[in-house]
Amino acid sequence: MTEPLRLVALETSPPAFPTEAAARMAREIFGIDGTAHPLYGERDQNFRIKTASGPGIILKILGPTEDPQTVAFQTEALGHIAMMDPALPVPRVRRTVAGEAYTSIPDERGIPHIVRALDFQPGRVMDSVDPSPALLRHAGGTLARLNLALSNFFHPAAGQRIVWDLRRAVDLRPSTGLIEDAETRKLVETVLDRFIAFLPQMSRLRHQMAHNDLHPGNMLVDEGATEVTGLLDFGDMIHAPLVFDVAVTAAETVGEMAPIDYGTAIVAGYDAVMPLQDAEFPALFEAIIARHALITTIQAWRRHHDPAGAEKLGALSALGAPAIEAYLSAGREAVVAKFRAAAAAKPGAGNLLERRFHALGRGLELSYDEPVHLVRGEGVFLYAPDGTRFLDAYNNVPSVGHGNRKVAAAIARQMETLCANTRYLHESVVEYAERLTATLPAGLDTCLYVNSGSEANDAAYRIAKIVTGQTGAIVVENAYHGVTDIAAALSPYHGPFVQPLAPFVQTLPSPDSGADPAVAARQAIAALRESGHGVAMLLIDSAFVSNGIVDVPPGWFAAVAEEVRKAGGLVVGDEVQSGFGRMGDEFWGFALHSVVPDLVTLGKPMANGHPTGMVVAPRALLKAFTDKIDFFSTFGGNPVSAAASLATLEELQSRGLQENAHATGEMLRQGIRALNHPAIAEVRGRGLMIGVQMDGSAALTKGVANAMRRNRVLIGTEGPQGNVLKIRPPLPFGPAHVEIFLDALRASLP
Ligand code: PMP
Repeated sequence: MTEPLRLVALETSPPAFPTEAAARMAREIFGIDGTAHPLYGERDQNFRIKTASGPGIILKILGPTEDPQTVAFQTEALGHIAMMDPALPVPRVRRTVAGEAYTSIPDERGIPHIVRALDFQPGRVMDSVDPSPALLRHAGGTLARLNLALSNFFHPAAGQRIVWDLRRAVDLRPSTGLIEDAETRKLVETVLDRFIAFLPQMSRLRHQMAHNDLHPGNMLVDEGATEVTGLLDFGDMIHAPLVFDVAVTAAETVGEMAPIDYGTAIVAGYDAVMPLQDAEFPALFEAIIARHALITTIQAWRRHHDPAGAEKLGALSALGAPAIEAYLSAGREAVVAKFRAAAAAKPGAGNLLERRFHALGRGLELSYDEPVHLVRGEGVFLYAPDGTRFLDAYNNVPSVGHGNRKVAAAIARQMETLCANTRYLHESVVEYAERLTATLPAGLDTCLYVNSGSEANDAAYRIAKIVTGQTGAIVVENAYHGVTDIAAALSPYHGPFVQPLAPFVQTLPSPDSGADPAVAARQAIAALRESGHGVAMLLIDSAFVSNGIVDVPPGWFAAVAEEVRKAGGLVVGDEVQSGFGRMGDEFWGFALHSVVPDLVTLGKPMANGHPTGMVVAPRALLKAFTDKIDFFSTFGGNPVSAAASLATLEELQSRGLQENAHATGEMLRQGIRALNHPAIAEVRGRGLMIGVQMDGSAALTKGVANAMRRNRVLIGTEGPQGNVLKIRPPLPFGPAHVEIFLDALRASLP
């Protein structure tokens, strides 16, 4: 057997720099002026550097054999976690004054040692308290968040060969002979053997970066010991089955209660944040007992080779044989059932629907006969609590992908730094307006920030009234423009309810009606003049979504716009649906119709889900408005919204998502047409805004959407007759997703 690497490393003692040297290093390398206090370290020489202000740092001097790759691995992992889940209490790497993650210092013999530092995390270690059920749940949930944050991280050093990797059980197996107590030895051997036999099944489970050592000695808790406030020691990280991490925490959290009860509470807390998959439950049982066997064997090995080190492990007497016996005597089936029950019994999850009805009323629409409960999104996929994955072909708001890291990090970073309002100067609020207007035609150069598409349309109407001195508005029949009193009045679409049209609103027939647009516009204008309103504005959704994503005859919008302008009205492009690249051929929907509006309103995808809206106007028009109206939106144009909007625009542009919308949209339309299904009458749309006209009723169309949901693809229904399938996915939708979509559609059509 080759000696397990880490055990060999443990035989060398940590470096022995004098305390004064540590204080000097802190000052000179990290710019931290404070007093140095030695801390215990197994392999590194550690000092806490206390400062007069703030918590100070932990200075770590590494042994001469430590690999810089491993340091880089940890640094990158911690940076990644901070980006993915900035609120997770992991150590922050303190950079040197030169901006490096570490430096190298020679000892008196000239041998170089890596010196690095972490911000000190205050708190007490969890193994010094008797954990309450609430704390155990929180610990499980915190571990799950850590796993989620690390789910898309990798580093070449993650393949490090350490004895604490359960998959090395084979290497460790010969060392069981060092276990003195015969009964314990036999128990450990049984467990290791069954684990080795189980490993092939383990290899089929989810793998990712695991912390691999999150026992209560590596977790900090708050004063009242109700929450985990710190996660420590990322030195054992490996790429491994996800359940290894759950197994470590579940196994090593011990105390007054039975070992299985600790495991159960940890699993419940974990599963509430990151649902375990079916096959992971039995694997978890095996990994928990294997971890105990591993600890017992390593303990015996140490006692043999390194008695001082063994003493420390020996204190954890509840680990090892007693825990293995408790688990084995309960049996895998019973323990798995207990874990599953705890995971299923999330507070209130079972009756979420009832609770929703109670808390939000029954009037709020829920999609699908079988409502979808979501806990997570990533790219074009959405996940239910049990891990079921849905392909999202419906949601246009997360246009640069669900859970977009860049946008999330920008929001978190800005929220931590400053969230104020437009009454103060702020760089990114101005920068976004500059970068956005650069994508628009020349005259559209000045921005009014609000919080939603509805607010934008509301503000556009106010601007139009001031600028034109008139109050009438023209919209398309069945159009939808929002929820404020004015935006709703501008929305002839009222779902199942029939509402009278407001007296200041006139409608145009849908562009696919065949009606002459100029004639229709002149009629609407005449009616508004007759009622004394005149024409303040024409409001057009260039995607004509609620009309059923219809094909628009060339010149239709231009003809209407010309009549409205002749009558002194403004042309407003509602780009809430059609903007930001979705239509594929053009970045803005109005460009498809060769019209440049006087005002443009934005919302939905602007900040990838962060609520933000905007009116873009020519400088003179906005001035005419603000000369008369003291307009201030508390949240509109706050730095967090600006940061989110900037990150979203950056993602759209740098990833070529408009071009992708064009290519994938074309592929999807062709694929649907190629199904040649008798229930499909017509496939329409541009880019990733697609309407599928069904040859059938609203009920049939809804049936298809419900079947798609059962086949794990989310779409909607649309149109005045409700018989159009609405397909409008996040823009990173690619050819592989088109395939999944078409398979599901084939299976869902009547
Ligand atoms: N305009 C259009 C074309 C829309 O589709 C919507 C929302 N569906 C709105 C405006 C209103 O946006 P919000 O709901 O974000 O206020």
